[in-house]
Amino acid sequence: MKNRTKFLSGFVSMSLVFLFIAALFGGMRGLLYRNQSTIAADAPEDAVMLVIDPGHGGEDGGCSSADGLLEKDLNLSIAEDVSAILNAAGYPSVLTRTEDTLLYDMYGDRTDYKGYKKIYDLKNRMRFTEETGAKYFVSIHMNKFPDPQYSGLQVYYSPNDPGSIQMADMIQNYVQKYVQPENSRETKKSNKGIYLLHRMKIPAVLVECGFLSNTEEAALLSDASYRKTLSLGIACAIMEYCTGDVAEG
Ligand SMILES: [Zn+2]
Repeated sequence: MKNRTKFLSGFVSMSLVFLFIAALFGGMRGLLYRNQSTIAADAPEDAVMLVIDPGHGGEDGGCSSADGLLEKDLNLSIAEDVSAILNAAGYPSVLTRTEDTLLYDMYGDRTDYKGYKKIYDLKNRMRFTEETGAKYFVSIHMNKFPDPQYSGLQVYYSPNDPGSIQMADMIQNYVQKYVQPENSRETKKSNKGIYLLHRMKIPAVLVECGFLSNTEEAALLSDASYRKTLSLGIACAIMEYCTGDVAEG
């Protein structure tokens, strides 16, 4: 635990320096553009770069911990923090949802969604992402497993764009290095079971932030400051990936 605290404080101060630099070069530029954007609202600099997707919502709570912590709430909390950090540093992002709700009736495709809620929720997250014109997609989830001993963040990547595995590795490695030194998990290619990753054409990942079936990890995830640290790790990794991707052209 002492080690973790040391890691965390080192990580946070290092990240703050990184954020400061990123904000200086990215955010300031973003702010300048935002001011100019009152004149040219459709300037390409205002384009959405990333969609951050808090999984589940509303009547679909996702998985839960023994003491009733719901995945949908933790997903939203982390996704909001990740998105806020990215925006502050000049990497424009939008969330698929900001409320405790599913998105099945987002586009009003049907009058009756009985039996179609889950599929339309996923279809609409996909459609929303495509309509924003975002270059990257990051979905935030929590894990659960029958055996409670398993813990640790795990990132899945879409098989459709080679950028997906790079972004996934970046997030996995960053979090392992700075937040979870005991985590030896490797990124995994998604199969058909992960609807969105299976269909996304842009670099796309799904971050399983931790196991709610593990009592210790569930307790950590219930702590807002731990979630902020995790969000910072995920956001820093995304920024590093996006910067490299842009540099490579
Ligand atoms: Zn989930």
